[in-house]
Amino acid sequence: MIKENIERVRQRISAVCARINVCPHKISIVCVTKGRTLEQIAQVIGLGYKDIGENRVQEASEKHKQIFGAKWHMIGHLQSNKTKEAVRIFDLIHSVDSVGLAREINRQAIKINKTQDVILEVKTSEEKTKFGFVPVELQDAAIEICKLSNLSVKGLMTIAPLMENSQETRKYFSLVRKLRDRLNPRWLLSMGMSDDFEIAIEEGADIIRLGRVIFEG
Ligand SMILES: *Cc1c(COP(=O)(O)O)cnc(C)c1O
Repeated sequence: MIKENIERVRQRISAVCARINVCPHKISIVCVTKGRTLEQIAQVIGLGYKDIGENRVQEASEKHKQIFGAKWHMIGHLQSNKTKEAVRIFDLIHSVDSVGLAREINRQAIKINKTQDVILEVKTSEEKTKFGFVPVELQDAAIEICKLSNLSVKGLMTIAPLMENSQETRKYFSLVRKLRDRLNPRWLLSMGMSDDFEIAIEEGADIIRLGRVIFEG
C-alpha cells in the first residue's frame, strides 16, 4: 500500500512540475512518521525515502535508536528543554520559531561540535495554535540567527491553515516565497502537506512534508 501511495504521489508531483516547468527532482519528500510504526518507517526507507519527519523529540528519540540510514527532520514545535536531545538526533530542524530557541540550539550544537542545519518557521496565519515568526519580525530574527556560529540556516518553513478550498492556501505559500526571495534566494522552502502539496509546489516549495497521503488510504 505504501509503495502504491508513494507512486501516486510521485505522479502527482510530476504532473504539477510538468505544468510549471520545474524538474521533479527539485522536490524532496519528507515522510512524516509521527504516530507510525517502526515497520512503516523501515518500509519507506526500503523504498529509497530516507527523509523522515517527526514532531516530538521523545518519539523520534525512541525511533532513532532502532532505525538506521534515515535523515531525521524535526517538524514540530521544539521546547527549550528538549534541544539537547534534538541536536543529538536531528539532521535538520524545520521548526525554529524564536531567537531564544535558536540560541539554545546553537549552545547545544557547540557542546558537541556540530553545525546544526535549521529552517525558520513562519507563522502565516492568525491561528493561535501556530508557532513561528510573524512576517514583520522575520528579517531581524533571521539576521540574529545567522550570526550564531554553529547554526546553518537553510530556509523557511510554513504550515498553511486548513482551508475548505485548498486554493485558499496559495496566498500563504506565496507570502513565504516572497519573504525567502527577499532574505536569501538560495534558501529552501519547506511547505506543503498531504492536502496542499501541489499548490505549495506551484508556489515554489522545495521540501514537502507528507504523512497521510503516504501512510493512509
Ligand atoms: C503532521 C505534519 C505534516 C504531515 O501532515 P499530513 O497532512 O499527514 O501530510 C507535515 N508537517 C507538519 C509540521 C506536521 O505536523
